[in-house]
Amino acid sequence: MTRQHPPSNLFYQNRQRRPMIGEARGIYIWDADGKRYIDGSSGAMVANLGHGNERVLAAMRAQMEKATFAYRLHFENEPAEKLAQMTAARMPPGVNKVFFVSGGSEAVESAIKLARQYAIAVGESSRWKIISRYPSYHGSTLGALALTGMDNMSAPFAQMLREMPKVPAPTCYLDHDDLSMDERGLRYAEMLRAEILAQGPETVLAFIMEPVGGASTGALVAPDSYYKRVSEICREFGILLILDEVMTGAGRTGRFLAAEHWGLQPDIIALSKGFAAGYAPLGAMVAHERLVEPVLAHGGFIHGYTYAGNPLACAAGVAVLDEIDRLALSQKAQDMGALLKAELIGLKARYPFIGDVRGKGLLLAFELVSDVETMTPLPKAMDTHIHLVEEAFSRGLILYSRRTRGGVEGDHFMVCPPLILTETQIGE
Ligand code: PLP
Repeated sequence: MTRQHPPSNLFYQNRQRRPMIGEARGIYIWDADGKRYIDGSSGAMVANLGHGNERVLAAMRAQMEKATFAYRLHFENEPAEKLAQMTAARMPPGVNKVFFVSGGSEAVESAIKLARQYAIAVGESSRWKIISRYPSYHGSTLGALALTGMDNMSAPFAQMLREMPKVPAPTCYLDHDDLSMDERGLRYAEMLRAEILAQGPETVLAFIMEPVGGASTGALVAPDSYYKRVSEICREFGILLILDEVMTGAGRTGRFLAAEHWGLQPDIIALSKGFAAGYAPLGAMVAHERLVEPVLAHGGFIHGYTYAGNPLACAAGVAVLDEIDRLALSQKAQDMGALLKAELIGLKARYPFIGDVRGKGLLLAFELVSDVETMTPLPKAMDTHIHLVEEAFSRGLILYSRRTRGGVEGDHFMVCPPLILTETQIGE
């Protein structure tokens, strides 16, 4: 699709320019020419409440009239205080200390720094390695990028990144063996244990994972056995469990946290995206109180951002959490997710090139393959992930795709509309 755009001073990842946005309401976006799109991916899995929610806008307007900025070293602000309290109330027991940031990468960056400073504070300064999964996505700032398992994103910065150990993401659906899914899940969990032993447990600080994969693995859900065993392994070696719930949090998978599906007890949780649902740049790193107290007692948390706890962003966050409750959006994600997934499974039965449909709640994806039996990916040269997304876009449906899966490449497409989606809109 070629578009004529006037010269611009903006630049992004590439030269491609998109249509100018006009207005956005509910699950729909209109471009400046009046063409309507269904926001089938909530942007980048962000706009969970849909666009233009009047209650959130009103809360933001009210806060704007009071103060839009309060500098941390000069003032506390009520929206930050309230949002911290509301966030803590939605976390697992003890995970109640909230550090605000402006996005997902900053939340992960903050988790890395808190984990490390905790180890130092409790006399375990030999621990610094954070094991993550391959593939995975944890953000693009250099700290978060070191944990991200995507070679194309990290390669140019290799010398500037601290190399961190990776274990395979549990892509059990690609394995060809006689094992049950739970047995496969255990096998992937044991790879974490083996990596910890290989690294030397006394050097390992934490393990980080997306409880349900994001764009890196295409809504990958591991078998139940994986989550249980990974948690046991972290406990066995005194390794912190960090859950990157930047995409999965705030109701997207059918619970406020994806961790709740498996009763996970993480030490740190990273939140962003649906947490302010696109109404403001906001994220949070939420830590167990047991980590924060020693750090504060040991010279303080050496970390921070100018916009941390911004009153306007936090006022948006408070209103978003209120709306998630008022509209029972976690339940809606479960109900609408089940219907939408059933539709996708119906398509899979009809079209032999749909190899897999997966996900939880409204964090869904389908994967295209050239052979369903062997799950052989489509040839890379076809660039299907680009062409399909562009074709859908031209027909007014926004999808999200990245070409990665397990050790090999593949074409998966995220189907993640706003959680306010109705049954009629699924049909559309
Ligand atoms: N972590 C996960 C799981 C993500 O999906 C993302 C973004 O896609 C990030 C971290 C980084 O968030 P941001 O782009 O807001 O920095």
